[in-house]
Amino acid sequence: MIAVDRARLAGLLAAEQGTYAAANPRSRALYEEATNLFGHVPMTWMNVWSGGFPLYLDHARGARITDVDGHTYADFALGDTGAMAGHSPEPTRKAVAGRAGDRGGLTTMLPTADAQWVGAELTARFGMPLWSFTLSATDANRWAIRLARLATGRPKVLVFGYSYHGSVDEAFALAGPDGTTISRPGNVAPPVPVGLTTRAAVWNDLASVETALAHGDVAAILTEPALTNIGIVLPEPGFMEGLRTLATRYGALLMIDETHTFSTGWGGATRAWGLEPDIFVIGKSIGGGIPCGTYGLSEAVAAAVTRHTDAGDADIVDVGGVGGTLAGNALSLAAMRATLGEVLTPEAFEGMIDLATVFSAGVQAAIDEFELPWSIAQLGARAEYRFTSPAPRTGEESAAAADDELDAYMHLAMCNRGILMTPFHNMALMCPDTDAADVERHTEVFREVVAALRA
Ligand code: PMP
Repeated sequence: MIAVDRARLAGLLAAEQGTYAAANPRSRALYEEATNLFGHVPMTWMNVWSGGFPLYLDHARGARITDVDGHTYADFALGDTGAMAGHSPEPTRKAVAGRAGDRGGLTTMLPTADAQWVGAELTARFGMPLWSFTLSATDANRWAIRLARLATGRPKVLVFGYSYHGSVDEAFALAGPDGTTISRPGNVAPPVPVGLTTRAAVWNDLASVETALAHGDVAAILTEPALTNIGIVLPEPGFMEGLRTLATRYGALLMIDETHTFSTGWGGATRAWGLEPDIFVIGKSIGGGIPCGTYGLSEAVAAAVTRHTDAGDADIVDVGGVGGTLAGNALSLAAMRATLGEVLTPEAFEGMIDLATVFSAGVQAAIDEFELPWSIAQLGARAEYRFTSPAPRTGEESAAAADDELDAYMHLAMCNRGILMTPFHNMALMCPDTDAADVERHTEVFREVVAALRA
């Protein structure tokens, strides 16, 4: 395998930056005019787009985005999963328009009948019997962690190094030397040293999990079924089963966050791989782009929580730290019902997964042709390449393969050729509207862009 020539890469990146700046004058002007926004963007992470300024959205439908300079892109970022159902799918649009228009009642403090429909649908897919709604996956994780601590009477959460579960204080942790837990680099002003709230373990390393659980203070193992925020790091055979066994043995709950791994199929990895979580979390995609999230509880966890609330030592109704004013609002429930019922169907997943398989084969063919030391991992409808081979086994290995300059070049070169990839890494997601021509175009462009690295 041949390593990338850094001088050549720097030249290519500079050329792509020039092309990007010349092609996007309107986006650039809007960015420069945004002097009342911190960092010139509505949310500081939007500065992650390479090229010096982000593209400004004009409109988006299905698998396509059109920017304010009039370019239309095949969108494989899909809002980092928020738009896994495609941009503004028709059923979701209608449901939202109904609630926002004639019926009214966007948020009222009253439940709607849509909530039970969605709860039953989530149970059919993911198996958990009881559900509560939030406005984001972050909130779902935060509130569910509180309930896990309440149910078990234990203070800590176990997470894996380089996992990501939203802006959840407990989760910014890495396994340090001699069994310690240390803060992840970049963690913004943690409220307390993370070792007080968290035990960190290493992905695919059951011994590290057992060592952490043996302290007897872990309320829940919080994990995705595959790491998806440091590239995709798949679980090795037996790892997820091992987590279930160890959680049970050491009295911890297993809390599965399927916000990204829902791409695995209609019932997520939980259904596809027969996982048995005690708490289940999902957000982003299930509302078709309308803010929402949810956590599902087993009967046993719900009963343990209820014992405390009945005894009066915890409050899940008023100001006890679980819930939010707009959580479970009528608009998000209407969007979830339409998106789950009519858009993210079993047939839609079949097509999305087939396309991701073709996408991955196209990337692998170019990696092989140009003898790049890269690898690609697929998780149902999602695929991601990483600048290392063989594929990393742990979050730490995957983090070590990060290459900001190469990332910037790949993103910008793809963008300049009409393809949008998820800006944080090299992730591509298929939606029900992605078509074979989009994937074929990606394969062509990917080959052209990596060929330039070699020429
Ligand atoms: N869980 C996982 C696995 C995620 O990847 C993310 C976001 N990337 C979140 C939770 C948080 O989602 P949100 O930012 O929408 O709250």
